[in-house]
Amino acid sequence: APDKEKASNVAKIKVVVRKRPLNKKELVKNEEDIVETHFNSLTVNETKLKVDLTEYVEKHEFVFDAVLNEEVSNDEVYRETVEPIVPIIFQRTKATCFAYGQTGSGKTYTMKPLPLKASRDILRLMHHTYRNQGFQLFVSFFEIYGGKLFDLLNERTKLCMREDGKQQVCIVGLQEYRVSEVDTIEEFIEKGNATRSIGTTGANEESSRSHAILQLVIKRLADGSVSKPRVVGKLSFIDLAGSERGADTTDTNKQTRMEGAEINKSLLALKECIRALDNDQGHIPFRGSKLTEVLRDSFVGDSRTVMISCISPSSGSCEHTLNTLRYADRVK
Ligand code: ADP
Ligand code: MG
Repeated sequence: APDKEKASNVAKIKVVVRKRPLNKKELVKNEEDIVETHFNSLTVNETKLKVDLTEYVEKHEFVFDAVLNEEVSNDEVYRETVEPIVPIIFQRTKATCFAYGQTGSGKTYTMKPLPLKASRDILRLMHHTYRNQGFQLFVSFFEIYGGKLFDLLNERTKLCMREDGKQQVCIVGLQEYRVSEVDTIEEFIEKGNATRSIGTTGANEESSRSHAILQLVIKRLADGSVSKPRVVGKLSFIDLAGSERGADTTDTNKQTRMEGAEINKSLLALKECIRALDNDQGHIPFRGSKLTEVLRDSFVGDSRTVMISCISPSSGSCEHTLNTLRYADRVK
């Protein structure tokens, strides 16, 4: 990456789609790969039935900033999405990278390595380009579950949010750790992911109902100051709740229904906020959900947003895949 990149050269909103390979379960069930990828577009081949029950294929075409197929590595995903943003975080920019998609589509697989790679580049910039300029890197990791905040680096301590009236969001009690080596970041990521909601069943199930938010914050000690360093830029990585969970609003379990409603609300609010960013409208509807309220300071001013929409290639996921692509299409 170029060391000093002009902020104006980096797109304000970038929407990419990542298609994962068919997995064993899908192969065993003889499910087909119905997603054809091209350079920056893709086609979903949906099999439908006519009234006389004969099958036909309906093709759905989508165009995005980039389409990453099943052969694309996590390194390439990083290069395509977050790498261009890293240098401008030193220039008072706030940026957010989302992974959106149904449970099992590859959100966590995609998201997990990104903060690690980003912090490696951030630390490299701090040690070379910005050597001795007082920059410091901090990490925090929390989740939003059922509209409540929990610290993933501090035994899931419940947190609350406060606004200071200057559009700065403060999460009271959130632990922020200073990091100066990539290895430490890796430990934090592992720890936080292991702490994500696992519910009573102990299955991975519950984590699909929470949004996990890892933030890398760059601070700087003002010249000659020995007091607290000030926030310069922020890079947030958000592993969103499974998009299909927003439809749990008719579930027989009341708790599940409420969580579903909360997820639905937050994903809709997120879409509206990103769209408002692009239109440069004065009003951004943060108040729509906890997720968007928490991200408020990352949406105002000189901000950047990357949306990675994760999809399964299989015929059995066709409906969810189309829903994900339509959502992504609305924010691009
Ligand atoms: P999600 O977080 O969206 O629920 P995961 O990231 O847990 O989904 O992915 C589901 C499974 O698919 C995991 O076993 C993961 O390792 C695998 N997987 C996801 N994306 C890829 C990929 N691009 N290449 C290989 N395996 C993948
Ligand atoms: Mg996951």
